[in-house]
Parts: sequence; structure tokens; C-alpha cells
Amino acid sequence: MSDINLFTAARAKKSLGQHFLRDERVVQRIVELLRPEEGDRIMEIGPGPGALTALLRPLPWQKLLLLEKDDHYAAEHAARPLPGLEVVAGDALAYPWEQLEGAWKIAGNLPYNVASPLMWDIVWRTPNLARAVFMVQKEVGDRLTARPGTKEYGALSVWIQSFVSTRKGFVIGPAAFSPPPKVDSAVVVFEPLPEERRPEHPEKLSRLVKLCFQQRRKQLQGILRHALPNFDAATLTSLGIAPEQRPETLTVEQFGKLAETLFS
Ligand code: SAM
Repeated sequence: MSDINLFTAARAKKSLGQHFLRDERVVQRIVELLRPEEGDRIMEIGPGPGALTALLRPLPWQKLLLLEKDDHYAAEHAARPLPGLEVVAGDALAYPWEQLEGAWKIAGNLPYNVASPLMWDIVWRTPNLARAVFMVQKEVGDRLTARPGTKEYGALSVWIQSFVSTRKGFVIGPAAFSPPPKVDSAVVVFEPLPEERRPEHPEKLSRLVKLCFQQRRKQLQGILRHALPNFDAATLTSLGIAPEQRPETLTVEQFGKLAETLFS
């Protein structure tokens, strides 16, 4: 494994979720799933010592943006300039996704402590997400790809699948990382849904899914009656939803329609 660590890894910082990839085959599979093409704009979140970056650097992209919170690694990457390479030292949770111009492919072995809020933001705030490939905790991967009626299906599943189709690329054990995490990891691929299938008013959908999945064992009519004084159960039946249904049984499309109807 020649290029797997561009830099000598400093002591891994737990607070930044640092578990560095040490298995080059895994890194290659992530790059394959990203389907890089000539002229791409590619962002890597959390490049760290550069296992994935090492395979991205030689590709014929137009732009490669590395977003890293750890100043040590951001400086290491900045010290190896290339035309079109930009290094941003900062918190991905505070990144202005709206300002990304053009289509972007985004990849990252995400810090597990911020992965869910980060993906939540990326799918709805990035104006033109072409594709994304993220390494996450396996349990989060299960939620990202969950179907209605399963115990993994929740607010994160509905929200993410309202913007992108999701599929699991592969699952790997702790030995692929240094230091090894306590859990298995999964690589998940996001492909954007056509514009007309995405929520017209994301803020309405966000409100509804958060409300519903805080009380997933309750019936929808109970949850909505309690939260919305003017709620009428006919709103549910008009959309083909039984008032007794629990949130976890609704499809992503039903959540979308319900959000638009309830909060219009
Ligand atoms: N890509 C490297 C690899 O696969 O070996 C490192 C992956 S490590 C799991 C997560 C990386 O994200 C670390 O480099 C860490 O410093 C960085 N990171 C943690 N929190 C971050 C945040 N909020 N914004 C940007 N980068 C962050």
C-alpha cells in the first residue's frame, strides 16, 4: 500500500471522529462508486492524512475542494498545491453549501459524530449535487437506505430519500481503519432525484418528519391533533393515509404530500 497515508498521521483526535483508512482496496472502491469523470468538481469532506485524497489528486477533475476541520491536516494539504485544488480549513457543519456553483460530486469518510446532521444539510442545501459517496457507521447506513415499515426507517431516512436515491455500496469492519472504530462501517451512494420529485418546501417536510418521528409509536392522527390545533383527519384520508397509521408506515412520497397539504 504505497500512497495510503500522504502524511505522517498525528495522534488521532477522538473529538474529530478520526479513524483513518488503511486499506487501499476500500479507498479504491469508494472512488469507483463516486464515478469520477473528466472535468468534475469534487469535494472531499475530512481528508485527514489523505488516504482518499491520494487517489483523487491524479484524476482529471476541474476542481478538487478539500474541507477539513483539523488545522494540522488542512495545512498539510495546502502545502501540496495543484491547479484547481482548494483547501478549506473549517467545520463542514458551518459550510455555505448554497454557494457551491456548478455540479459537485462529494465524498468522504465522515466523522461519525457529525455525519447525520452533515448529510441532512448537504442534500437540501447543495444547489446541484451530482453524486455523493459517504462512509458512515453501518447503523447510519441502514437508516439512510431503510424502507417504510422497518425499525431503521426514521426521520433521517425520509429526509435524505426525499432528495436522493440511496443505496449501500459495501460494508466493512473496523480493521480497515487506524485506530479501529468499535462498529462496522458502510459506504452509501446518493444519486439526486429529478427536481420535480424533490420537496417544494423542504422546511415543511423537515417540520413534519421531526414531529412524527419524535413519537413514532403513536398514531398519526394523535401526533398531528396534538401539534396542530386545526388538524382534520380528513387531510390524511384524502391522501390515502389511514389516521391510525404510525409514521414509520408512510412512504417518502406520502410524507412529501402530507407536508405540503398540512402546512400550506
Ligand atoms: N479521509 C480520511 C481517511 O479516510 O482516512 C479521514 C477520515 S476521519 C473518519 C474524518 C475526518 O474528518 C478527519 O480528518 C477529521 O479531522 C475531519 N473532521 C471531523 N469533523 C469535521 C468537521 N466538522 N468538518 C470537517 N472535517 C471534519
